[in-house]
This record gives sequence, C-alpha cells and structure tokens, in this order.
Amino acid sequence: MEGVHVRAPGKINVFLEVGDVQDDGYHEVATAYQAVSVFEDVFATEAEDFTISVTGSVDVSGVPLDDRNLALRAARLLAKESGHTGGVHLDVRKGVPVAGGMGGGSADAAAALVACDALWGIEASTSQLLQLAAQLGADVPFSLMGGTAVGTGRGDQLSAALARGRFDWVLVTSDEGMSTPEVYAGLDAHRARVATDIMPASRAPVVASTVLQALRAGDPVLLAESLRNDLQVATLQLRPALTDVLLLGETSGALAGLVSGSGPTLAFLAADEDDALDLRITLSAAGFHALNVHGPVPGARVVN
Ligand code: ATP
Repeated sequence: MEGVHVRAPGKINVFLEVGDVQDDGYHEVATAYQAVSVFEDVFATEAEDFTISVTGSVDVSGVPLDDRNLALRAARLLAKESGHTGGVHLDVRKGVPVAGGMGGGSADAAAALVACDALWGIEASTSQLLQLAAQLGADVPFSLMGGTAVGTGRGDQLSAALARGRFDWVLVTSDEGMSTPEVYAGLDAHRARVATDIMPASRAPVVASTVLQALRAGDPVLLAESLRNDLQVATLQLRPALTDVLLLGETSGALAGLVSGSGPTLAFLAADEDDALDLRITLSAAGFHALNVHGPVPGARVVN
C-alpha cells in the first residue's frame, strides 16, 4: 500500500464539570464532547523507523517532533501491542490550534492509530483501538469515536450520546496556547481560595440532563442555556483579556459563549449557520481570528 490518509476532528466540551483532585493528581470529570469541523490530517507511509513532520494552517512551533509527540507515541504503542516490526513516517497537517483546548494532539494520536492500523494491515477492533487510545490521553478515545459523547472518569470512559441536527459555532483562536495542567492547577488554587469551612460533601461529577436533552433535540437555544465549563474561571484568571472577547461575542449575536476545554480558544454557539456567519464577520472585523465550524462530525477515519 502506498500510504494512508486519515482525518480526525477537534472537539468542544459543551459541558465540563470538574470534580476534586484525586490522589494520583488527576481530576475526575463529567463532560459532553462534540466533534467539530476543524481537522487534523495525518498521512502515514511505510518507513524503517518512526519519524514525523508537522505543518499546517496553525502555528506549529510548539509541537514536539520527538517521542513526546502523541502521534508518534500512538504509532509506537500500536506497533508494540500488535508485534509489528516496521516503522512509519507520519506527515501531520494541523488545522486545530496547538494547545488551544480543542484536543489537537489527541486527534493526531487517534489519526495515527487508525492510519497505522490500516497501513500495517492489523485490523484491530474498535474496542482494541479505544483501549490503546485511553493509554495515550484522556481525549484520545473521543477523537477516535467522534460525534457526540459523554465522558466520565478522566473523560476517557465514553458513551455515545444521542444527537440530532447540526450546531453552528464560531471559534476565536489565540496565537499563544495554554498548558492544560496549569489551568487545572489554577482551578485548584481558585477553589482553595473560595472554600469555606463548611463545604458541601463532594459528589461524583455528572453531565446535566438539560445538556443531553438539548443535544438529543438538536436545540441550540436549550444547549446555550446549559453550556458549562468549570475550567473557564481558571482560564479567564490566567488570560483576563479573554473576558472582553467573550462579552463581545455574546453581545454580537451569539446565543452563548464559553472557553473550549482548558482554553484559550473561545467557542460561540449561534442559532443557525447564517447567524454564525454574521458573528464571524463581526469578530473578524474587531481584529480577532474567528472561524466557522459545525458539529457533530465523525471521528478519525481513513480518507483515501
Ligand atoms: P488537551 O487535550 O489537553 O485539551 P489541547 O487541545 O489544549 O490539549 P494540544 O494541541 O493537544 O492542546 O497540545 C497540548 C500539548 O501537547 C502541546 O503543547 C504539545 O507540547 C504537546 N503535544 C504532543 N503531541 C502533540 C501533537 N501531535 N500535536 C500538538 N501538540 C502535541
């Protein structure tokens, strides 16, 4: 086989409740993911060793090209688990902003798993790929699956959510990314500051039923009322300038806006495609880098 081209989507967490920090340093979360039409393209070709090149329509200078790269780690993991002895060259073309809170690295890992599986003729089952994905990162299983899903645990225990119709979003991206661990640490510090002596007993985080209802009904107005991201407070404390952008979007026709994942990308939900186009024009005219996307879209899959 000449080579394999796989495309994988970025994601928005339309709901993200963050529980207490666990003994292992991770937080338990309950999230509703929506895969959106901003993509990573990975081209895999046979090679003796494991190599990678990264280009794209976004600034890729922050992407490691060594074994820290999640796509390379995915390829190596699949080779190890399947007993495949050759290597691969991965040519990654990024469309998802790096360290933008949209799971770009996770999408590369999911795409690399699917691409190497096809290139090497392994024919792993979906559940085998999902299990490898979970070893690579909390968001990797969702990028494989795509569509709309609820994630619990670290976000990696997935169940598909019923979804109808199409949701139109405007994304505002930032030139400089944010570190996910730093944002979680910011949330812990914020919670410690606002804690009172008498705290309610903490319960396991759970996705609100109104979110699931809105997704099921394809109802952007109801979804706008139910959007939630517990990381937002920490992201905005670390990047106060984003607060004004959120306000601008929300007063320029968005039904609602929120920080995507750990940020700094902002996601504005519009009533329909026309409203989203108008909003994007307004935000672009104000000097922001804004783009129209829609969801849900499928997970990582072979294109050629
Ligand atoms: P998260 O999944 O934590 O929300 P994110 O969407 O904010 O992540 P990513 O673009 O996935 O951000 O990158 C987070 C960090 O992971 C980067 O700063 C980079 O150092 C590292 N990284 C490793 N592999 C990749 C990859 N293939 N593409 C982008 N970043 C990668």
